[in-house]
Amino acid sequence: MNALTELKRRARTSATPATPATHAPRESPESQESQESQGVKAENRRFLPLVAPVGIQEALESLRRERERLLAIATAGQIDLDQVHRLHDLDVAGCVGLDERQLAAFLSMLEESAERHAGQVPAGHTAAVHCARCGPVWLHPDIADVLPVVDGWPRVLGCPWCFVRKAGGTIPRPSLTSASGGV
Ligand SMILES: [Zn+2]
Repeated sequence: MNALTELKRRARTSATPATPATHAPRESPESQESQESQGVKAENRRFLPLVAPVGIQEALESLRRERERLLAIATAGQIDLDQVHRLHDLDVAGCVGLDERQLAAFLSMLEESAERHAGQVPAGHTAAVHCARCGPVWLHPDIADVLPVVDGWPRVLGCPWCFVRKAGGTIPRPSLTSASGGV
């Protein structure tokens, strides 16, 4: 996951500058790349994890700030704060660098997903669409508007309800006559 890569990168970036000071290789000015100094450098690399906690602390502080930002955005958007509390740290790390509009959209999608798994149609999802795997489902009109229409039904090969179906959840169905042309 990108978030994990980001965490590792930060830990590595923060730890690296401290290395020469804490494990300075014993290099003589005239033989900087002697076999001995190279051996010491290789040894230093092996001990990098010993100085990594400084980077990890910074990463944890960054995660705490990012989660607080998400909570503030959720509060402003009247989104259930549990959506933020339930987020894994790696998902929170993946939010670093996104603007407030993007985060609000992300949280809104999380809430809609939770509603679907509870068997509820998200507010405003009033378009009857035919999913190749789920059959008739309710999606947002903005999505339905860009889908190809066959026999009166906007068609899609997979949809957000697919995850609910796979989990054995309940899918509220539009009637077979809900599409503009019926079937
Ligand atoms: Zn589906």
